[in-house]
Amino acid sequence: MEEIRKNFIQEIVENDIKESDGKINIVTRFPPEPNGYLHIGHAKAICVDFGIAKKYNGKCNLRMDDTNPAKEDNFYVEAIKKDVEWLGFKYDELCYAADYFEEMFNQAVVLIKKGLAFVCDMNADEIKESRGTLTEPGVESPYRNRSIEENLDLFNRMRAGEFEDGAKVLRAKIDMASPNINMRDPIIYRILRMEHYRTGNDWCIYPMYDYAHPIEDMIENVTHSICTLEFEDHRPLYDWVVQNVDIQAKPRQIEFARLNMTRTIMSKRYLKRLVDENSVAGWDDPRMPTIAGLRRRGYTPEAIRDFCDRIGVAKSNSLVEAALLEHCVREDLAAKTQRRMAIMDAIKLVIDNYPENETEMLTTENGGDETCGTREVSFSRELYIQSEDFMIDPPKKFFRLFVGGEVRLKSAYIVKCTGYETDEQGNVTVVHCEYDPETKSGMSGADRKVKGTLHWVDANNCTPCEFRLYDYLLDEREGEGLDFSERVNNDSLIVKNGFAEKSISDANIGDSFQFIRVGYFRKDEDSTSENPVFNRIVGLRDTWAKLNK
Ligand code: ATP
Ligand code: MG
Repeated sequence: MEEIRKNFIQEIVENDIKESDGKINIVTRFPPEPNGYLHIGHAKAICVDFGIAKKYNGKCNLRMDDTNPAKEDNFYVEAIKKDVEWLGFKYDELCYAADYFEEMFNQAVVLIKKGLAFVCDMNADEIKESRGTLTEPGVESPYRNRSIEENLDLFNRMRAGEFEDGAKVLRAKIDMASPNINMRDPIIYRILRMEHYRTGNDWCIYPMYDYAHPIEDMIENVTHSICTLEFEDHRPLYDWVVQNVDIQAKPRQIEFARLNMTRTIMSKRYLKRLVDENSVAGWDDPRMPTIAGLRRRGYTPEAIRDFCDRIGVAKSNSLVEAALLEHCVREDLAAKTQRRMAIMDAIKLVIDNYPENETEMLTTENGGDETCGTREVSFSRELYIQSEDFMIDPPKKFFRLFVGGEVRLKSAYIVKCTGYETDEQGNVTVVHCEYDPETKSGMSGADRKVKGTLHWVDANNCTPCEFRLYDYLLDEREGEGLDFSERVNNDSLIVKNGFAEKSISDANIGDSFQFIRVGYFRKDEDSTSENPVFNRIVGLRDTWAKLNK
């Protein structure tokens, strides 16, 4: 599709290319911290970072932003790599910020030697208190004017493990009166004895994000460091580091609005809580907005990329309707999936005038385009239909089954309802009907019109299945300031045991289908040969398209 308008990031990049007379080699990076799984918000960042590199014949690295040992793990590194690749992106290099610790240390020494960093003995609370407020300047640290020699000595001894955790920090020497609080002598190194998943116990000092990130970008020759809006106020510090350390590269930071979506949360910290508190079955629970969860649910990379394209990039935060993502996947699946018949809340339909012990194979369309062809489904005297397709007292315009009513059974015959049976509680268990042999689909005489067409499966020749019907994780109370734990939707998973036509037993894990009149489903990893499990990806009704007509 021809692009109509450039987004603001593309405009910045094109301008930079022009100003360099085309000499600049565009390099971007996607820098997740390996402390959780990627979510749909990260997918947006991935599309932007990789998209810019691709559009301008540049490169994009996948970089683990792993400078904080506390919550990082190789387990997440592997999950992140898998998710990025699954989304359809090839990274040029796989990088680890932790591999740059030595260079970061050396550059801190450079800053000390330039008189631009000092070791401070104040504790965290004291530093916080002396930072000032938006209206008042901060107070300079009494350690601010230590000599370069003393600072070098102390910083080396910090590294050597001579001081307790928290006893000292290294701070940039910038301006305690800056209107930007991030510039008030920010901490750039802290002492922390904690094993790092990659560097083990090599280090007991770790760099802070605002110092580490620009150096990571410089080492990788990143030209455009694209991040989300909350870093806008940190950009002066980013630029300060770029200006003052001794590395040639001059990357620039560009911020865009993060993705927020209705009916879900989009932060690893909260998603981890859902996992840890067993509110969901894991990071890849099909209700999770994680890439792994969406994949398991049955979302396709194409649908997710299409969604990211449609929401675009902007400079102000907004909330995107979850229904838009569903619209994208529905559109993609409509073109890709074959149709099958499945019954989730079964009642028996007995065709009293159909010969006992007879089975016939009927031809039905697979859906999609004509290349998808047809398949055979078995039909006999006893079928299953959806319980809601029969009513004892139907309202007007109920074009399904009731005593005296007629429907067509999909790809089969027209049947007329003659009666029903109930259990002790009054629930309908069996519906009786008679069929008209002249109305077989595809035969002359089959053109008799009835208003309703029902799907069904042959009760004598079908596959019992488990259907997992998912709803949103959170209820609709957006923006009321409620903690997400108060909004958890307790009915976000409904399990149904039902039946699908026999051919479903050939499906592989990961195969998706449209179960006609019900929705799109994907065969789940929990499936066994006795109990195939199908996740509902989305229903058929497109609420987004309706609202946006
Ligand atoms: P979270 O708050 O979920 O932990 P994060 O920003 O801490 O997210 P990182 O692993 O640091 O997660 O993020 C990697 C990249 O993805 C960053 O550039 C970040 O700006 C971007 N990103 C994270 N969340 C979103 C989002 N909701 N929309 C767009 N980009 C995002
Ligand atoms: Mg982060």
